[in-house]
Amino acid sequence: MIELPLIPRPVTVDATGGSWSRPNAFRLVIQGADASTKSLPLEYFSHLMPSCTTVAVGSDASAHTHDISLQLTLRSNQPDDEGYTLEIHQQRAEITSSSYAGFLWGLQTLAQLLSHGTEIPNLVCVDRPRFRWRGMHLDVARHFFPVEFVLKFIELLSRYKLNRFHWHLTDDQGWRLPIDSHPLLTEIGAWRLESDGSRYGGCYSRDEVAGVVSHARSLGIEVIPEIDLPGHASALLAACPDLSCDCRKIDVPNSWGVFENTLCPSRESTYQFADAVFSEVADLFDSRYVHIGGDECPSGNWAKHTGCRDRMHQLEIKSASGLQGHFNQRIARILRELDRTPVGWDEILESGAPSDSVIMCWRDLRYAEQAVAAGHETILSPMSHCYFDFYQARDGEPKAIGGHLPLSRVYGFDPLGSELLEANARLILGGQANVWTEYMGNPEHVEYMTIPRVCALSEALWSDKESHDFGSFLKRLPANIQSLTRAGYNHRSLDKGSSGS
Ligand SMILES: [Zn+2]
Repeated sequence: MIELPLIPRPVTVDATGGSWSRPNAFRLVIQGADASTKSLPLEYFSHLMPSCTTVAVGSDASAHTHDISLQLTLRSNQPDDEGYTLEIHQQRAEITSSSYAGFLWGLQTLAQLLSHGTEIPNLVCVDRPRFRWRGMHLDVARHFFPVEFVLKFIELLSRYKLNRFHWHLTDDQGWRLPIDSHPLLTEIGAWRLESDGSRYGGCYSRDEVAGVVSHARSLGIEVIPEIDLPGHASALLAACPDLSCDCRKIDVPNSWGVFENTLCPSRESTYQFADAVFSEVADLFDSRYVHIGGDECPSGNWAKHTGCRDRMHQLEIKSASGLQGHFNQRIARILRELDRTPVGWDEILESGAPSDSVIMCWRDLRYAEQAVAAGHETILSPMSHCYFDFYQARDGEPKAIGGHLPLSRVYGFDPLGSELLEANARLILGGQANVWTEYMGNPEHVEYMTIPRVCALSEALWSDKESHDFGSFLKRLPANIQSLTRAGYNHRSLDKGSSGS
């Protein structure tokens, strides 16, 4: 095993003897590309490697002494198998895999090798991920980020072999997803009046959403949209007040926190609305999973509403909060008809989660243990290790929401971090970090909070646990940060340290 500045660290890299100098300017010519690899983002890869002039497909390109030839070989067709083998000998490389994703991750490894140094050893690298869900979330509701940044963010995830982008598109402070059947959701719900009197907001067009989904797909990433219901719904209710218990007209809030405004779970119109919204979501997104939120939902308004109390009586539900279980079952039924699987925050366990729902645990491991005990597939995203809105050091940092999450703790994240979870490993899909943006007003700040922590997350989720070594990771990190800087990403300086753990 030789040590190269690769993140995440591959399962094995063995030197096969000798090395060669990367040409100062080279073309990467791909052979063996077929229908399964036709969506490889060639231009993206040519920009990824600083000395690369072109990534071209096919043998028609006449051979050139500075070409690096890359052969792609499909082993068998197993789309869920993300493993790959990369062999490099002089200026010839071969990636063997059973899937598009495997080719893509092999190419990312090759790109890192060609970007991080000029002397390239001949080698064989055998690699596969530890977890199948390696996710990153971005909240575009608290602050809105233009589509150009969303695409750049997704490209960052692909570099580090993360394969799920959880797009938090709706919340109290903004609704960002265009819904043709309910145009007021964005006409009203995408905009708020700030305390200084300025109007803040924005939303995506359907074309922009489609562009994100297809670019992500070409980069090996599934986009999971989140429509947060029935709480965190103020922007929705500003546009559609008839869907709340008291039908009161409200404004889109301009402050943070948990709001009393919730969808009324007793009205049929609520489910007609959800049906219309999720039908359009299913048109826009090709992911198997759709996130339905379910977090931090107060039930105070439900307890006061005659319609909700009648519904509780009819369903023999004892406390108003139990209505959320009824609500979630109805939403899950809508998604089932659309052939989608619901994902919800761990609160949905409290009132009886739909049997086919995946639980995303953001509080502590107890909830993940509850989820697997009830037989749910589960994703670990605990605040303790995965909240990138937390401070990166105890002092000297820009204002954040709170908490303390240094790089070393992200690196130590283990989705199988208890005996019970380990025993139920087959139900643990993987892990994810979350970027809530209450205190991140622009893309540069999101990047500051994400890099380098995303590198630690990548290795925690991809590499075998036995290979984890924070000291080695820190040695491999600077070359990666240099590449990211060249590509125009902001980051937190490695020299700042993380003071404490
Ligand atoms: Zn109600």
